[in-house]
Amino acid sequence: MGKYKRVLLKLSGEALAGDKKTGFDEATCIEVAKQVKEMVDSGIQVGVVIGGGNFWRGRTSNTIDRTKADQIGMLATVMNCIYVSDIFRFVGMKTSILTPFECGSMTKLFSKDRALKYFKKGMVVFFAGGTGHPYFSTDTGAVLRAVEIEADTILLAKAIDGVYDSDPKTDPAAKKYDEVSIEEVLDKKLAVVDLAATIMCYENKMPMQVFGLNKKNSIIDAANGINNGTKVTV
Ligand code: UDP
Repeated sequence: MGKYKRVLLKLSGEALAGDKKTGFDEATCIEVAKQVKEMVDSGIQVGVVIGGGNFWRGRTSNTIDRTKADQIGMLATVMNCIYVSDIFRFVGMKTSILTPFECGSMTKLFSKDRALKYFKKGMVVFFAGGTGHPYFSTDTGAVLRAVEIEADTILLAKAIDGVYDSDPKTDPAAKKYDEVSIEEVLDKKLAVVDLAATIMCYENKMPMQVFGLNKKNSIIDAANGINNGTKVTV
């Protein structure tokens, strides 16, 4: 596994819930943990960002204030990281959780220096709480952290197995891209990450590898540069 030195793994909250769609599917999380351990054991530094869709999405509430709804969403991502971090420890990894806001003794405050210090110690570093601001997503949080920690690439593990030219759920003729440039993603507004995150990738030349989390060994394959999904080039 010699391709990358440091990667940012983005896991969608929904994918962690497996078929249940909400909460956690433990078997899925343990399978993820085993794959990440293989990466860490081979010397790759791994940062992790997890979405919150298995608990809460800020924009789905029509009743409460968006800022408050998004705060709940950010806290959902902290819960996800606490859970997955402990599953990672269960399979034998060292982990830490960094947040852009204080969570008492549950997490530590994010700084680039702190993240790099933990990577050097062989820890998997979870970047929980997104960007710390409402009206953003964990996609944008993931790109932001990937750029800050100078990751080689983003490994984007999704419920869907790559980037399509239209939504395969509604369009049976939808075609999957093997490779697509970030410019094309922007021009055609392809659903890889949201627009704010796409622009950050474009501006900072951060590539992505998109793949389905439920395919066996998909994270390891992506870490080895094997493309079962879609490569987003910069
Ligand atoms: N969120 C936020 N700021 C961030 C990251 C996340 O406000 O920087 C909130 C937002 O409410 C979002 C929820 O956390 O809906 C879960 O994050 P995720 O990126 O999974 O949301 P999705 O894009 O699926 O709505």
